[in-house]
Amino acid sequence: MILKTAGILSRRFLFTTAATKMSSTAKKLDGRIAIVTASTEGIGFAIAKRLASDGAQVVVSSRKQKNVDAAVAKLKMEGLSVTGMVCHVGLKEDREKLIEQTVSLFGGLDILISNAAVNPVFGPVLSCPEDAWDKIFDINVKTAFLLAKSAVPHMEKRGRGSIIFISSIAGFQPFSALGAYSVSKTALLGLTKVLAQEVGHSGIRVNCIAPGVIQTKFSSMLVDNDAVRNKVLEGIPLQRIGQPEDMGGLASFLCSDDASFITGENIIAAGGAQSRL
Ligand code: NAP
Repeated sequence: MILKTAGILSRRFLFTTAATKMSSTAKKLDGRIAIVTASTEGIGFAIAKRLASDGAQVVVSSRKQKNVDAAVAKLKMEGLSVTGMVCHVGLKEDREKLIEQTVSLFGGLDILISNAAVNPVFGPVLSCPEDAWDKIFDINVKTAFLLAKSAVPHMEKRGRGSIIFISSIAGFQPFSALGAYSVSKTALLGLTKVLAQEVGHSGIRVNCIAPGVIQTKFSSMLVDNDAVRNKVLEGIPLQRIGQPEDMGGLASFLCSDDASFITGENIIAAGGAQSRL
């Protein structure tokens, strides 16, 4: 009897030890296939790196082959599972190739991070020329919608998926010199809400990250000049400019099962900068 109990206990111990070992090596995005647009530098690169570090197979992309090659080389040096493809998000054939080749190479698609954006003009919304308005809405809003439209059928096949749009705190609290851009980023908040309602029944979650001021080329006008930077810092309780890596962990969390009941949310990551009540 004693021997039998000891046998059961030791089997339980072995099982528990093996399970603990497995869970300590398993990563939260193991087995997930992810596309991150505009990911050869800045926020997109940091998100791609974090998703890959957390176990995802990541497809990195941007407009220029040399940038794609450099980003992939950097990430591979760190032992991460990444592939690169050129994709100018404004080009239909590039978008289609990105999605279709990802699916044929890796057998499916679980994660789409729509990150690309432009801002060709500075100033109030009423001084925005029509062609600049069209460009801002084409790249920042329409391509986000079109990429999601192409990605969803593949996610439906897998019965799961996570889409993240990268908006901006300017979508909540418009920046005075970024009138049209701010409107485009507000549109993404709406797209998140609508799409989350429409695809939730397929196990697909749709969320949005609204970064505050993050140190990248895109924000150089705000962070490179000391006087402007100090003014910006006055509005940030954490007293620092954000780093691209600050967005990586949040994106990875939202794509993971830890966020399995979160959809349709617009999450601000801005060091406490004023954005809403
Ligand atoms: P960034 O550092 O300037 O990154 C630009 C990246 O986008 C590069 O990899 C570039 O590579 C690629 N890219 C540019 N145009 C593209 C296009 N049409 N198609 C595909 N790739 C393109 O920008 P970021 O600051 O990381 O911004 C990323 C996102 O965060 C944007 O949606 C932006 O609105 C948002 N955001 C940024 C901040 C901030 O303070 N930085 C704040 C709020 C929101 P190629 O040149 O090779 O294409």
